[in-house]
Amino acid sequence: MKLDVQGLTVSFRIPGATVRAVTDASFQVRPGRCLALVGESGCGKSVLAHALLGLLPGNAEVSGSAVLDGELDLVAAAPAVLAKKVRGRRVGLIPQSPATHLTPVRTARAQLEEASRELGSAQRADELAERFGLRAGDLDRYPHELSGGMAQRVANAIALAGDPGLLLADEPTSGLDRPLVDTSMAVLRELCDEGRAVLLITHDLRAAERVADDIAVMYASRLVEIGPAADVLNRPRHPYAAGLVDAQPDRAFTPIPGMPPELTRLPGGCAFAPRCGRASAACASVPPLRGAACHHPLWEDPRAASA
Ligand code: SF4
Repeated sequence: MKLDVQGLTVSFRIPGATVRAVTDASFQVRPGRCLALVGESGCGKSVLAHALLGLLPGNAEVSGSAVLDGELDLVAAAPAVLAKKVRGRRVGLIPQSPATHLTPVRTARAQLEEASRELGSAQRADELAERFGLRAGDLDRYPHELSGGMAQRVANAIALAGDPGLLLADEPTSGLDRPLVDTSMAVLRELCDEGRAVLLITHDLRAAERVADDIAVMYASRLVEIGPAADVLNRPRHPYAAGLVDAQPDRAFTPIPGMPPELTRLPGGCAFAPRCGRASAACASVPPLRGAACHHPLWEDPRAASA
């Protein structure tokens, strides 16, 4: 399944202000490939994922398009279409904090069987569980009896019950220790290699590195760099992307000075300018995204210049 997102913009009206959570995001997710959307907490990436599934609160205003397989625009689709034909069937959501996402008073089996039934899945709960390395006995546990890794596997099994072609994984490694992060990313890679398109939302660059073919970096509601994972991680062009990479413990471990702007008070030009050592007068206008959205990228990409 292919997802083509163009100009996706999401804002929320709150008393006395407008929260601009996603601004003019354009990208594609293709079958058999994983795009990781990375950025600091609060930059808008989870809002973007929820916008694709119609899971935003009533005060959200969404524009742009997100077209599945060239024929269904998720932004324009009616809520009933998203509920009955898209969520779980064509697009599966692997949630943040699976342990809290599961209903606490029902066993994993009951929740998995319900998902299979509702989605008309031919796969039995035990088959789905086995697929994700769970034993039959694990399914008869309540969520509080599951380890973080087991809860993650149950959430994966539920997300896959309807055999969706596109998976949205929203911070699936939150709260997991490093070995479990690695295991989760290996499972996600496997699902991708089976031909599914995967959009991974994460603030964990190491996790993204393990699974992603491509990486999109988000800052203050906008995508500021997008490209092959190896390029973005090893040779970033946007100063913010470079700062994000350098902030990793296994890199320079140097935090980016300053703080991101509030999404209610985004500046007119490049939102990174107050934190950027390369800022100039030109940065008072929003740079277009040509690989990197920057008037003075760290290096020029001839492919972007000719795009
Ligand atoms: Fe820095 Fe200007 Fe590039 Fe923004 S557009 S990241 S301020 S150089």
